[in-house]
Amino acid sequence: MGTDRDIDRRDFLNGVAVSAATLSMMSSANAQVTPGTQDMPGYYPPLSHGLRGSHPGAFETAHSVRDGTFWDHAKKPEDTHAIYDLVVVGGGISGLSAAWFFRQKKPNAKILILDNHDDFGGHAKRNEYNLNGRLELMNGGTMLIDSPHPYSDVAAGLIKHLGIDPVALAKKANHYEIYEGLQPATFFDKETFGEDRLVVGRERTDEDADDAKISWKDFLAKAPLDAATQADILRVQEGTADVMPGLTVEQKKDKLSRIPYLEYLRDYMKCGPKALAFYQTITHDEWGTGIDAEPALDCWGFGLPGFKGLKLDQTAIERMGYTAAGYCENRDLPTFHFPDGNATIARLLVRDLIPDAIPGHSAADVVTAKANYAALNKAGAKIAIRLSSTVVGVKNIGDPAHSKGVEVAYARGGNVYRVHAANCVLAGWNMMIPYLCPELPDAQKDALHQLVKIPLVYTSVAIKNWNAFHKLGTAGISTPGMYWSGMRLNWPVDVGAYKAVRSPDEPMLLFMIRTPVSTGLPERDQHRMGRQELLDTPFELYEAKIRDQLQRTLVGAGFDAKEDILAITVNRWPHGYAYEFNPLFDDFSIPPDKRANVVGRQRFGRIAIANSDSGAAAYTDSAIDQAHRAVGELLAI
Ligand SMILES: Cc1cc2nc3c(=O)[nH]c(=O)nc-3n(C[C@H](O)[C@H](O)[C@H](O)COP(=O)(O)OP(=O)(O)OC[C@H]3O[C@@H](n4cnc5c(N)ncnc54)[C@H](O)[C@@H]3O)c2cc1C
Repeated sequence: MGTDRDIDRRDFLNGVAVSAATLSMMSSANAQVTPGTQDMPGYYPPLSHGLRGSHPGAFETAHSVRDGTFWDHAKKPEDTHAIYDLVVVGGGISGLSAAWFFRQKKPNAKILILDNHDDFGGHAKRNEYNLNGRLELMNGGTMLIDSPHPYSDVAAGLIKHLGIDPVALAKKANHYEIYEGLQPATFFDKETFGEDRLVVGRERTDEDADDAKISWKDFLAKAPLDAATQADILRVQEGTADVMPGLTVEQKKDKLSRIPYLEYLRDYMKCGPKALAFYQTITHDEWGTGIDAEPALDCWGFGLPGFKGLKLDQTAIERMGYTAAGYCENRDLPTFHFPDGNATIARLLVRDLIPDAIPGHSAADVVTAKANYAALNKAGAKIAIRLSSTVVGVKNIGDPAHSKGVEVAYARGGNVYRVHAANCVLAGWNMMIPYLCPELPDAQKDALHQLVKIPLVYTSVAIKNWNAFHKLGTAGISTPGMYWSGMRLNWPVDVGAYKAVRSPDEPMLLFMIRTPVSTGLPERDQHRMGRQELLDTPFELYEAKIRDQLQRTLVGAGFDAKEDILAITVNRWPHGYAYEFNPLFDDFSIPPDKRANVVGRQRFGRIAIANSDSGAAAYTDSAIDQAHRAVGELLAI
């Protein structure tokens, strides 16, 4: 992989022999800002459609660093003679928060944030559409303020400082009454269930929906399922039998933590293959894996069906994943979805760091405010966000134990640049760090390699109107056997000047999700395979699958994929959710403070490590908390 090569041969340090003394003497006034596409008039990535997320151009450099080929072809690094108090690698919520926490302690700090994408925010991206002259928004990744555990004082404090009060916002902004009368629905596809049929009234996770207009029995009777499969599903959804008789609650929980949900449904609930197919993707959205790779206990903790008869008490045990343990014990934490998801948090952070970049003053007005990308990377500015810049090497100056600074090399527009900083926070994807810092101790590199991120695709589709959904009586359709495992109308949220669509005659955004899995493999291998699948899939295939799926599910109400689809944005995230330890595949006798994320995130000289990965929790509060810890480690030196 090239990590064994001597980094000095890579030449990124050879330009200037920088000592600690030189660092403090060099003036930041000679910092050079290299212009890039983000400085061009009209540059506005949220309006780009097609293949987004890890878009073409964002990842190739990083992959050549991983493969050890980057320095074979790279130009000789140019020294920008720029000196920063802090360089942050990664402009996601964690990197932006790191800059924010650092500036809070050092108000005059000069900070550079580098990110490989053409837009800031990391996963917290914004998809913007102009439909019939109207602004329509959807999240391109990070969807909502929601965590299985309460936000820490640090994360809650930052959100509050940004003007976000999720409880107050949810009361005022949510307008789900627009979809009143529309029911969840399930589409049974002919490849999996023998016949294409949409059945309205239920979907797999709504076992507790008191307002369901139709019983499970009646719903199943309408589905293209034989009597035995209907009985299997009914047993899971409504069954009250104790299928683990003779075991105490503790023994049941322990057993459930050691078997996948698939095994529980098959061997305890006695489900046949068609019923298992009905449930196979029920875990996709939350964990990025199917029921073969999620422990039954985690599925219980998350509220999935089939456990009522076991009479388990609502407390977590140690052998539970982060998400399940949290949701098991914290049922009513506040959640809020901004129209562009947590891109609003990223945008508020950017506005706080660089006020000229986004006009306005509140968490409400930011939703419709247009970002000025040219202001992000201004010469002489204290804080800059440089996009389309992939960091290819980070090194302490001198012995890490006594380091007084860091050199950072990044590739941008075919050139390689070198900057110097007193401190560096690596807030990018943690498994990339061994390639950037080959000098790290081997045990730390091994730990970082274990943090394999979870791939997934969030797609937004603009359609001419949503009459078809209205006619069918549904706002969301679960599609267990199809390429996209679910689809729904945009959530109706009004914030500030932004107003959600009201009339079914108006254009609407649809959300569709795909999680690439390799059923039966260990979790990390499934993610590695899935990552490759996402990178190998051309936009045309995603598009064909969208058209096919919409045509087949909505055809009964006159939807015409040829005419009715206006635009598509496929946000593919080969490196998506942070890895959370899974009792089926990870050694839970290792205490949480000795696990790979903690071993991996140790400070190395003047380099500290953030990102939600280092919290082993795929949530925004983790991204913020880890930034705070990383900055604290540097400031404590
Ligand atoms: C599709 C999706 C939906 C999600 N939904 C939710 C949700 O609803 N709620 C929630 O709380 N969380 C959600 N998450 C989790 C989300 O990851 C976190 O909430 C948070 O946004 C992560 O922020 P981060 O800064 O830690 O990482 P990221 O957002 O991944 O940011 C890291 C950035 O560093 C960049 N980077 C990496 N290496 C380099 C390099 N060498 N040089 C330069 N830049 C580099 C990356 O490209 C990226 O832009 C979701 C994640 C995904 C993928």
